Amino acid sequence: MSGTPYAEVIGDPIAQSKSPLIHKFWLEALGIAGDYRRAHIKPQDLAAYLTERRDDPHWRGCNVTIPHKVAVMDLVDDPGNIRCTIGAMNTIVRQPDGSVIGTNTDAAGFYAPLAELDLDGAPVAVVGAGGAARAVLFALARANVGHVTILNRSPLKAMGLLATFGLKGDVVQLDAALPPVALLVNSSSLGMTGQPPLDLDLSPLPEDAIVYDLVYAPLQTGLLKAAAARGLDTIDGLDMLIGQAALAFELFFGAPPPEGRDDELRALLIA
Ligand code: NAP
Repeated sequence: MSGTPYAEVIGDPIAQSKSPLIHKFWLEALGIAGDYRRAHIKPQDLAAYLTERRDDPHWRGCNVTIPHKVAVMDLVDDPGNIRCTIGAMNTIVRQPDGSVIGTNTDAAGFYAPLAELDLDGAPVAVVGAGGAARAVLFALARANVGHVTILNRSPLKAMGLLATFGLKGDVVQLDAALPPVALLVNSSSLGMTGQPPLDLDLSPLPEDAIVYDLVYAPLQTGLLKAAAARGLDTIDGLDMLIGQAALAFELFFGAPPPEGRDDELRALLIA
């Protein structure tokens, strides 16, 4: 498809990425002549990849996934305020003059399903302190949540994040009892296919608590099954995946995704 505008998702590994399915679905639905590809880029090849692509006028940019979200901040012409805010970049966009700018659409994608809720002052718990947790904590700080409990294998890393995002809270081990929070978010890899399960006792959560799992493979994680069994509201990882992709799609192709097609897209992603 040379001559056709295209964007990519880059990572190592990359075969598991669902981004091409999402972007191609929207391109086709809107009748835009464009393409979206996977590119397997190893860390040692990242700088050369960006140097090469910025000279390609058909390349609109790329989404960035594990393990490049931090390293790319040093390789774009304009990282905006990402370094001193979220501290991880998931979207790079080529400008008409060949320069590349970077941003992060994960935080807005994470927050979209929560936007109607009043989280002001609400106690929350977050599992994990990696790249996804940074976007989660950034968004929760903007929502002015109350006490934040981070459960993480590496406590020091989690303490650093509380300070970075100006959040009041504490850090506990993964096997600690949950506090009675309004919102529980899993932003760790636990529960993902091939990873250990996330075994939490949800009984301390109040009846109106919401359980949000960023993991989308599998979609119905053990955590979400346990929350549903307790009658709690749940949010799965596809909402965030589609939300972060929607913002990137508009940056790449100049149009928002079609409205009213999310159910169809979810069915495609689950198949
Ligand atoms: P990451 O930067 O590698 O962080 C992984 C986190 O999981 C860290 O906090 C790590 O703890 C913890 N962890 C990993 N293996 C563990 C183990 N065996 N025992 C205990 N803790 C463990 O990864 P990430 O980018 O944050 O991604 C995390 C998850 O979020 C992945 O499942 C990813 O697919 C998902 N995600 C989903 C979306 C979406 O749109 N739905 C977007 C981004 C990410 P330590 O801090 O101790 O290392």
